[in-house]
Amino acid sequence: MPELPLTGGCACGGVRWELTEPPLQVGYCHCTRCQRRTGTAASLNATIDASAFRLLRGEALVRTWTPEGGGAKAFCSSCGSALWAGPPGGTIVALRLGSFDHDPGVEASYRQFVAYAAPWEPLPDDGLTRYEERRPA
Ligand SMILES: [Zn+2]
Ligand SMILES: [Zn+2]
Repeated sequence: MPELPLTGGCACGGVRWELTEPPLQVGYCHCTRCQRRTGTAASLNATIDASAFRLLRGEALVRTWTPEGGGAKAFCSSCGSALWAGPPGGTIVALRLGSFDHDPGVEASYRQFVAYAAPWEPLPDDGLTRYEERRPA
């Protein structure tokens, strides 16, 4: 396992965070929102316990987009980097894998919303558990 705390941030360095516990789970989201939000076929997210997460700097740069029926998606207003998602005050946060500085030590175990997977990037035959819709809690 990598050394704790794990650290990460946005592309411009304005936002920095640390995580004192390893992620609970890591998985791909293939929903249409994630495709639009990231400009890619899927978003790789680490499910974490919110109490293990601490924002070190950049609070004023963090903006959120809250789609109808979804959790707030946080990004850096200076560089546009995707950061995390989750309901305000919730106990579980989805931290974007791309914002980690180093290997979080947990491999992806599932793919969710595969019913909406981009036709231009076929799902790899990687043996990960697939869910047509959201992964059951
Ligand atoms: Zn930034
Ligand atoms: Zn998604």
